[in-house]
Amino acid sequence: PIYWYDNQFLPAEAVRVSPQDRGYYFGDGVYEVYRVYGGRLFETGLHYERLARSAAGVKLALPFGEAELEGVLTELVLRNEVREGTVYLQITRGVAPRNHLFPADAQPMAMAYCNEVARPVTTMEAGIKTITLEDTRWLHCDYKTLNLLANVLAKQEAAERGAGDAILRRGDIVTESSASNVMIVKDGRILTHPANNLILHGVTRAVSLRLARAEDIRAEERPFTVDELLAADEAFVTGTTVEVTPIVSVDGRPIGSGEPGPVTRRLQRAFARAIGLES
Ligand code: PLP
Repeated sequence: PIYWYDNQFLPAEAVRVSPQDRGYYFGDGVYEVYRVYGGRLFETGLHYERLARSAAGVKLALPFGEAELEGVLTELVLRNEVREGTVYLQITRGVAPRNHLFPADAQPMAMAYCNEVARPVTTMEAGIKTITLEDTRWLHCDYKTLNLLANVLAKQEAAERGAGDAILRRGDIVTESSASNVMIVKDGRILTHPANNLILHGVTRAVSLRLARAEDIRAEERPFTVDELLAADEAFVTGTTVEVTPIVSVDGRPIGSGEPGPVTRRLQRAFARAIGLES
């Protein structure tokens, strides 16, 4: 594979990462994961907007503008001949001896690579089992930073308990999952946590809300409780790599009929149309 690293396109084996990169010491950086459908990057505008917010939130000056970044990532996809896959992009605060204070002269260091990854059709069809866990993250979950240890631990615990994902709650309130946003359906209406500091403002969340409204499905952004999740007619997660994936159980209890529900299916079909797969 060809990487983009330190402003150059390089074969993977030619990439030399400094052990003094602040990404290692402090997780001091921000990232994005894009979807590639039919050889084209999906929703680049929403990704850039979020990246700019994350960077500003951690006082990191992005070393490129929107058009320049889009040019680079488009070239990366082309050079790797990826048709259906993902692009990972991260920007760290740069290379400097370990010191919590921002280095005076370090340049932000950007890296991106691109992979062929199939859509998760099996889990999108069958749905996933989930568990609930306390959300132990900091209070800026809206910044997409490299500090993912709480997310990693949650996802690992879910896997060890035979579940596909962990749904996070702050007290009684469901925030999101370890790597996606959570939505429930009650009486035909979609509910999802508001886009504030407690969740990542998912691109797929925004696309799903847009598609739901275009389908005349009512959708409301308001906090809901674990009890409301358990009593929901349907539930699903949204994310770049999971798209719209049904949740069929939570902590061993079935959601609704225990099968993916009709609103979830409608949204999946609308999503497939939006990415040019069905008419
Ligand atoms: N929430 C978390 C914690 C995530 O890591 C992600 C990333 O996939 C999402 C939500 C979904 O965001 P997006 O739809 O932009 O991929």
